[in-house]
Amino acid sequence: MNLNTVRAVRRPASAAEISDWRDGYAWLAGGTWLFSEPQPAVDTLIDLERLGWPALEATAAGLDIAATCRIAELYHFAAPKEWIAAPLIRTCCEGLLASFKIWNAATVGGNVCMSLPAGAMISLVVGLEGVCTLWPRGGKPREVPAVSFVTGNHANVLAPGELLRKILLPASSLKKRFAMRRASLTHLGRSAALLIGTRGADGGLLLTITAATPRPVQIRFAEDPSAASLHAAIDAAIEPTGYFDDVHGSAAYKRHLTYHFAEEIRAELAGTGAAR
Ligand SMILES: Cc1cc2nc3c(=O)[nH]c(=O)nc-3n(C[C@H](O)[C@H](O)[C@H](O)COP(=O)(O)OP(=O)(O)OC[C@H]3O[C@@H](n4cnc5c(N)ncnc54)[C@H](O)[C@@H]3O)c2cc1C
Repeated sequence: MNLNTVRAVRRPASAAEISDWRDGYAWLAGGTWLFSEPQPAVDTLIDLERLGWPALEATAAGLDIAATCRIAELYHFAAPKEWIAAPLIRTCCEGLLASFKIWNAATVGGNVCMSLPAGAMISLVVGLEGVCTLWPRGGKPREVPAVSFVTGNHANVLAPGELLRKILLPASSLKKRFAMRRASLTHLGRSAALLIGTRGADGGLLLTITAATPRPVQIRFAEDPSAASLHAAIDAAIEPTGYFDDVHGSAAYKRHLTYHFAEEIRAELAGTGAAR
């Protein structure tokens, strides 16, 4: 839609050009959300496109995903063989309700910064223990674990004008076995629950619960939990009233899915079973 409050579009070649942040400014990534509804508080869009950040860089440390990497580009990333958790990338991309236009224009950073409970890129980067690099206006870059980035429904740790620059998926996480479960009330619809489990050579299970709760919840087990201790750990991490209630599923339904999927993941990753 036309944004009739917007009076200017800036296209900086470097983020440092935008030092004078004020109310009314908004970073523009793929624009799929920004142009999907009126933005009465926005008068100036600052387009990230000309910053020219490389979309994906695979190194010994892991996979660096630029905030401006499009979901379609991430989907086609060919991972080294030893990154056995890499199939999660495609599965999470497919977990996003997206038309052809959204699929090709939306960015990973835009999805993470939207900070919706069903943000499939959030599930991915939290499940794989990502680290976000943030560029504040006028301050030093800082790093925030992806699990701490989203603080609630459509809320995150970004200060006004702060830019999400990239997310590193560590190689150590990409080398873990994984299991993932997702449910949606409608075919190709928004996730009601998206759970990811990973298990490294040390045997510990890391369970990530997204979409069912307003913000990601992560539970780490030093050893394989029993079904009862898994259930108890979920209860300790999420209050019965702590599930997200919306048109994509009631809180009670999402709570039920959480226990059910967590148990399936626990069973799948227990012992020495092969990677999925
Ligand atoms: C019909 C429809 C269905 C959708 N369904 C889903 C769904 O199922 N699951 C889901 O997760 N999302 C869904 N979305 C929302 C989707 O997450 C966003 O449209 C998309 O991911 C945003 O990416 P973008 O690059 O287009 O961001 P934009 O629209 O350009 O920006 C989104 C927001 O993030 C800010 N932003 C963008 N990049 C940065 C950055 N690097 N640093 C700081 N701030 C930044 C912008 O200022 C803006 O506030 C849906 C949207 C639509 C329109």
